[in-house]
Amino acid sequence: MTTATSVFVSEPGERDVLEVREHDVPAPGRGEVQVELAAAGVNFIDVYKRQGIYPVPTPFVLGEEGAGTVVAVGADVSGLAVGDRVAWCQAPASMSTITNKPADKVVPVPDGVDLEVAAAAMLQGLTAHYLVTSTYAVREGEVALVHAAAGGVGQLLVQLITQRGASVVATAGTDEKLDIARALGAHHLINYSTFSSSDDLAAAVRSAAGRGVDVAYDGVGKATFDASLASLRPRGMMVLFGGASGQVPPFDIQRLNAGGSLFLTRPSLGHYVADRDELEWRAREVLGAIADGSLAIDIGGRYPLTEAAAAYAALEGRQTTGKLILVPSA
Ligand code: NDP
Repeated sequence: MTTATSVFVSEPGERDVLEVREHDVPAPGRGEVQVELAAAGVNFIDVYKRQGIYPVPTPFVLGEEGAGTVVAVGADVSGLAVGDRVAWCQAPASMSTITNKPADKVVPVPDGVDLEVAAAAMLQGLTAHYLVTSTYAVREGEVALVHAAAGGVGQLLVQLITQRGASVVATAGTDEKLDIARALGAHHLINYSTFSSSDDLAAAVRSAAGRGVDVAYDGVGKATFDASLASLRPRGMMVLFGGASGQVPPFDIQRLNAGGSLFLTRPSLGHYVADRDELEWRAREVLGAIADGSLAIDIGGRYPLTEAAAAYAALEGRQTTGKLILVPSA
């Protein structure tokens, strides 16, 4: 038994339900490794779980993503040893200084990739990877719409899409955020806070792209969904992958017909790291691209674990760019 400090959600609610406290952690069980945390990633899925949009019995330790060093190995674990550097993105209860993780959910962090960078890259990096390789395989010459392009997933989408020879229409809420998207290679920049109607925003996207876009990557949700749909070419793909501005309400499916035989999908990372091979493949590609310098990770904020609520206030308040991480002590 060892002692950990963790971020708990005491009951569904806003940030005041977060509690940081010490508790005992048992030795790792069968198929588990115990990891000393280097950093945990701050994500919107944590917000959805804290609010009860994705129900989780309370109290629970927050966090899906992190990286650290193996300090103990349970029974029936092969290929992992004390001292190994590992990362994960689909393993609940990550905001904990000492945490037991299923061995099949952690991946090795290659030499040359800092553990804080790995923690920052896993969930958003594997998400951007599956969105551009599998949900819609972006091809050379195509045009993609990316909302919140200076955000965590947004910055990675811009890089992965332009590396595939496609162009990006990037949106963001401020001109400073658009500068970040431009520096990463986005071709067309739109400050969507200057538009009051979805039709006007869609017209601006179409005008920038010169036509309807092939694919719309929309993690903003409620505020942008209508404009995204109206920005697509006939038979274009609407990828609604989140709801930073709120969840999209039910809609009339005939709108897909009226828009030109459109496709709509609402993907989740879990379904795209469905088995060990797929997790390893995506992690190898993302962490490998970081190691060889072809994928940039922007850590936009680093908070002590004890100040988790401040990190979420910044994320939920649109104050951030790139990725926020929590560290055991800053
Ligand atoms: P971001 O860093 O992109 O932060 C969210 C951004 O959304 C804000 O910075 C802001 O950018 C924009 N935004 C617009 N309206 C609002 C609003 N009302 N409240 C808050 N933010 C708003 O976050 P992430 O990269 O972590 O996540 C982006 C989206 O991707 C989220 O919806 C998340 O749930 C989703 N996601 C989905 C996954 C999946 O597999 N389906 C996996 C990972 C993330 P601006 O100021 O430029 O408008």
